[in-house]
Amino acid sequence: MKILILIAGIGLLGSFVYHSKPADTVYVCVSPTAKKFHYNKSCPGLQNCTHEIKETTKVSAEKSGYTVCLKE
Ligand SMILES: [Zn+2]
Repeated sequence: MKILILIAGIGLLGSFVYHSKPADTVYVCVSPTAKKFHYNKSCPGLQNCTHEIKETTKVSAEKSGYTVCLKE
């Protein structure tokens, strides 16, 4: 029974870590014309980026003037 509880605990922790990362990590194109940040690194909008793709946080991206991408 203790083993079952342990397994359930690891499962909960694992899903928490999995769900918490995408909410905060975003990707931006470091270009003067880029205005959007993307939750998904493979977003079609990000594939057009000819500059460096930078991983940052949602808060940081918003402070830099980026708004959320609506393509994904
Ligand atoms: Zn996007």
